[in-house]
Amino acid sequence: MNSETPTASRPELTIVIPAYNEEGSLDELYRRLREVLDAYGKTYEIVFVEDGSRDRTFEMLSALHDKDPRVRVVQFMRNFGQQMAITAGFQYARGEVVVLLDADLQTPPEEIPRLVDKVNEGYEIAYGIRQYRMDSFLRRAGSWVMSKLLYRITGINIPDSASGFIALNRRFVETINMYNEKSRYLSGLLAWLSYGRGGTIPVSHSARYAGKSKYSLWQLVMLTLTFVCNFTVLPLRIGLFIGTAVMGLSLAGLAWAGLLAIFGRGTLDPLWFLGLGLGFISGVQLVAIGALGEYIGRIYGEVRGQPNFIVRTILERPAE
Ligand code: UDP
Ligand code: MG
Repeated sequence: MNSETPTASRPELTIVIPAYNEEGSLDELYRRLREVLDAYGKTYEIVFVEDGSRDRTFEMLSALHDKDPRVRVVQFMRNFGQQMAITAGFQYARGEVVVLLDADLQTPPEEIPRLVDKVNEGYEIAYGIRQYRMDSFLRRAGSWVMSKLLYRITGINIPDSASGFIALNRRFVETINMYNEKSRYLSGLLAWLSYGRGGTIPVSHSARYAGKSKYSLWQLVMLTLTFVCNFTVLPLRIGLFIGTAVMGLSLAGLAWAGLLAIFGRGTLDPLWFLGLGLGFISGVQLVAIGALGEYIGRIYGEVRGQPNFIVRTILERPAE
């Protein structure tokens, strides 16, 4: 799937932009991108990955491509999700430095030169760090709690202020392209690979230019679960830990009840304990089985070996 091109034809810069139902932002996004990139003076291309939109996103991108051959468009057969759109974008990107940007203008394209300069300074990866995050309060609070919790669980630090606005050098992109896993959480993978060595620049964050977030709470929960499952087997061990504790407690309880019976003071209603104990143990078993199921489901997904995304059309002029 890699678009292998000789180094000579590599532009200095690729901007990768996943776009799903973004008709409201595209023209403004392109206008602002042109302005910064032309002023920056490096050779560049813009790779849009159109992720099965139901609105006019593809038509608009196609018009941009007709007007400007530096705009390349990869259109998916259907919606495969942001993670796969980025994956495809990285595979099609030809630039020496690749910048990942959301289509909704929440992070300003005007910061691209500073981010790229960071990479050219020698960092393999550079992150835009949001100074003040303009998402809903619940989203920010949830994200803050989760990032702390996930750090504890997985040992991987993704600060909740880290935006999806990043720049990578060619080697880093090639490394990501080696990963073929279906269940993927790129922020986690990037943080894990960069090993705390990435550069950062502060960026402002605004509300979406148009439309609304493409993420529901459920999708965020599932993405978090993917992260946890990809980087730790802790959920599989939860059953083991709790099970051991429950076993110990039950044994102690039994011994206690036995002693009471022997010394003739047993007046506690055993049904009470029986009921509660059984309920608790069933819970533990269900958690353990659920954790098993989660991983087995993922193994099943990987084993089936279906393609991670399917491209319908590619709009690009041949590389000269
Ligand atoms: N996106 C995508 N496929 C999806 C969902 C989102 O390509 O299934 C793109 C979307 O068009 C945007 C980026 O991913 O460019 C981030 O999405 P969004 O702004 O909705 O996420 P949020 O900022 O709320 O995290
Ligand atoms: Mg957004």
